[in-house]
Amino acid sequence: MIKRFLLLALVLIAFLIFTPPFIQAKGEISLLDSATEVNFPDALIFKLKVSSSTDITKTRLHYQVDRMNYATVTSEAWPKFTPAPMVETQWVWDMRKASLPPGAAIKYWWTVEDKAKNILITPEKTVCFADFNHPWQSLTSEQLTLFWYEGNNSFAQELMAACQQGLEKLAIDTGAHLEKPAKIYIYASTKELQEAMIFPKEWTGGVAYTEFGIIAIGIPPEQLEWGKRTVAHELAHLVVHQLTFSPYANLPTWLDEGLAMHAEGEADPYMQAWLRKAIEEDKLISVRSLSSPFSAKPEEAYISYAQSQSLVEYLIQNYGQDKIFKLLKLFKQGCTYDEALIEVYGFDAGGLDARWRASITNQNQAFWQKVLTEILASPVGVC
Ligand SMILES: [Zn+2]
Repeated sequence: MIKRFLLLALVLIAFLIFTPPFIQAKGEISLLDSATEVNFPDALIFKLKVSSSTDITKTRLHYQVDRMNYATVTSEAWPKFTPAPMVETQWVWDMRKASLPPGAAIKYWWTVEDKAKNILITPEKTVCFADFNHPWQSLTSEQLTLFWYEGNNSFAQELMAACQQGLEKLAIDTGAHLEKPAKIYIYASTKELQEAMIFPKEWTGGVAYTEFGIIAIGIPPEQLEWGKRTVAHELAHLVVHQLTFSPYANLPTWLDEGLAMHAEGEADPYMQAWLRKAIEEDKLISVRSLSSPFSAKPEEAYISYAQSQSLVEYLIQNYGQDKIFKLLKLFKQGCTYDEALIEVYGFDAGGLDARWRASITNQNQAFWQKVLTEILASPVGVC
């Protein structure tokens, strides 16, 4: 009896081991394959292979992009196929319609239905929309991961150190911290960065995809000093946008750019010279105008960035960390520019303008003269 039982058990085990996976149990849908193909930066392809004892009639892809959102957004797609007991289909996400940055993470799953109304919901998977066109290396420190492919380890370490110094400066002077992990992709040149974008703008040297926690910058290893400023600058945009993320947030451009310039470290002499030139030629721009996006004309753009940095530093030096942090929080709540300034500092944009102009024109003339002599030295880029 025991022998017969053992024999039966062995037969059953053998049956289970050697049963081909595609044999269909009645009344069920089997998932044979669920995969993705990344064609960076043009497309992301979701592939599905399923079978059933009867015709499969519906397949639906569900996906969620990992980005800051006010509510969880699940998108859906219905790939085309001919109903059959075994179906192999795919859906191509064309990035010309939804440009994703390198390294964006997408969670997805499928719902499949057959003629007998059986339903299969596949397990969730996550795909990284990675740029496989370069041999990336990575370096992680706390919440930051830096990816690069050209330049040695010390190149990456110096960029990472600049990021950490920028974060520290921002935390000390404004109270703002990185709230979520961030990824920084360092391309070897602006050209290679632009090749990673579907619709690059001509001037693009660095981009902060703040809602994704992703930054992409083109930094040739021989331009390390410029690169250190740029990573700190873009990272500051990420921190400020994380802190003020809300459906109501409305940051004045001078504050956003001024904080990013401040995080770069010591004021750049070239930018300082532009500021002095604007003062001497009476070309300073009003704080109200600087609240809107900056002019694309180089001269006005340089003055706008330099002035924004100076405005932010004026507020930090004269009124401290607590107030600028409170100002950011009020902008998050949707306060208007004047409302927020009046509540925190007791003056509006016009009042800030007047106070700041008085302070800047009183500064040491000799210091400014020295700065001005450097104005036509090598130009620097801004973001
Ligand atoms: Zn910027």
